[in-house]
Amino acid sequence: MNRQTLLDRIATAEPWDVVIIGGGATGLGIAVDAAARGHKTLLVEAYDFAKGTSSRATKLVHGGVRYLAQGNVSLVYEALHERGRLQANAPHLVKVLPHVVPAYQWYDMPFYGAGLLLYSILAGSLGFGMSRLISKNEALRLAPTLTQRGLLGGVVYYDGQFDDSRLAVTLMRTAMDHGATLINHLPVTGLVHQDGAIAGVTVTDRSSGQVYTINAKSVVNATGVFVDAIRSMDAPTAKPIVAPSQGIHIVVDRSFLPGDHAVMIPKTADGRVLFALPWHDCVVIGTTDTGVPNTSSEPRPLAAEIEFVLSHTEKYLSRRPQPNDIRSVFAGLRPLVKKGEGATKTLSRDHTILFAESGMMTITGGKWTTYRHMAEDAVDQLTARGVLVAKPCITKTLRLHGYSTAPDNDSMQMYGSDAAAVRELAVHNPEWAGLIHPELPYIQAEVLYAVRAELACTVEDVLARRTRALLINARASAEAAPLVAAMIAAELGHDQAWQDAQVAEYQALAAGYQIS
Ligand SMILES: Cc1cc2nc3c(=O)[nH]c(=O)nc-3n(C[C@H](O)[C@H](O)[C@H](O)COP(=O)(O)OP(=O)(O)OC[C@H]3O[C@@H](n4cnc5c(N)ncnc54)[C@H](O)[C@@H]3O)c2cc1C
Repeated sequence: MNRQTLLDRIATAEPWDVVIIGGGATGLGIAVDAAARGHKTLLVEAYDFAKGTSSRATKLVHGGVRYLAQGNVSLVYEALHERGRLQANAPHLVKVLPHVVPAYQWYDMPFYGAGLLLYSILAGSLGFGMSRLISKNEALRLAPTLTQRGLLGGVVYYDGQFDDSRLAVTLMRTAMDHGATLINHLPVTGLVHQDGAIAGVTVTDRSSGQVYTINAKSVVNATGVFVDAIRSMDAPTAKPIVAPSQGIHIVVDRSFLPGDHAVMIPKTADGRVLFALPWHDCVVIGTTDTGVPNTSSEPRPLAAEIEFVLSHTEKYLSRRPQPNDIRSVFAGLRPLVKKGEGATKTLSRDHTILFAESGMMTITGGKWTTYRHMAEDAVDQLTARGVLVAKPCITKTLRLHGYSTAPDNDSMQMYGSDAAAVRELAVHNPEWAGLIHPELPYIQAEVLYAVRAELACTVEDVLARRTRALLINARASAEAAPLVAAMIAAELGHDQAWQDAQVAEYQALAAGYQIS
């Protein structure tokens, strides 16, 4: 997949049916939906696919137990069905993850037992398994590190787990399989209007500085917490609609939660939900919900958020992680839509779609689990406005790129049917079968594959989102940076200065994911 070939395609005189700004879950989902319906589709991403919130999730494909507690049954129903569809369409990326909910009060068992039974039933034929009550002994067998004092028993229920940035890469490739063009490191730097109506975008290539003007019949602003910046390009007087809320996770050693069950604390002392999830060879613990004044493509965890997660780990998983237990800490921003704004245009309880006077669509909110449904809504809305020719949505049963049901329990599982192509590289050159770092589960062939087939351009693209090295061991990933930079440079023809700059930039970034 050659980036220049993609760039050569974009400035065609004939307008694109849909130009999507933003390569997170929302934009990528729309690209898949629109391309699969046969529309001429372009997506441009300012940094890299899933650079924003979409690589910083808890990694759950879920109905949202929290929404059930709030009585939002229809939202949970919708998300549970999307969960089932995603597992059916991308079995190589979604696995069933049993959760233990520990009970420390006598009323927890009947309360959570009933709620989680309803949760299991709502999923209907797309269910992942029925919940059940468990004794204290079984709770400790399934989650041996649970704090024993006061433990009465618990509930086991089932949800899905996925790898968020790998799903993003998979959606990018699925959209391409259906004829769409998607390009990263290509920010929208201006909008094109004709007689007051949106008519395209201008983009600036980060590597060459070249500016392209792109004609479009419709423009979709799917930039997550950044939607207001694009909205003000469209109409300088547009009122901001997003209030970002930050959530952090810490990633610790597996010894904090051995076994294959997650732990869900439904109500912490201050009323939040806390998850501890086995993921790769570590445990991901989070999250928080902190209103923040500014948006950033690299949000930083706050000291109070880290303390919240550490103290609750100590409270529920018996011991407090020490700095050298922490492999990584990462933050993401939820694009919460301010109350009242766009309320009349809300199509689903969970996400918001607004049309500006120019006709530009803004879509934000929702969650990874419901990306497909959001995309269907978005394309249906463009169709209803007469911008797109009516064609049926086919994504409910559309198999995603790499679809494979073959059990493959090694670190190549995430590639699905592409795993053979990755392994093939290592057959040609045995050196590429070597690990990129002794403490990371990735081989050198994966770096090449990321560059050749997955549009990775930078060290960060490879270590943060094609592999998950940054999240599973930030220090080791920083140490792997020189090798990765050299491999990308050899592949793409960059010089030593490029490599040095890439290594310095990546190591500075990775330092922000470590706790000293
Ligand atoms: C802490 C946390 C945990 C979560 N956990 C879960 C979970 O377990 N399960 C779940 O289902 N959901 C979860 N979510 C929700 C889910 O992650 C988000 O709903 C989803 O990722 C939002 O995707 P998005 O595409 O709207 O935004 P983003 O992923 O932020 O994508 C927007 C993209 O737009 C790009 N962009 C910005 N400006 C421009 C421009 N000028 N030109 C081009 N591109 C631009 C950005 O670089 C970015 O990549 C979680 C969210 C948070 C914050």
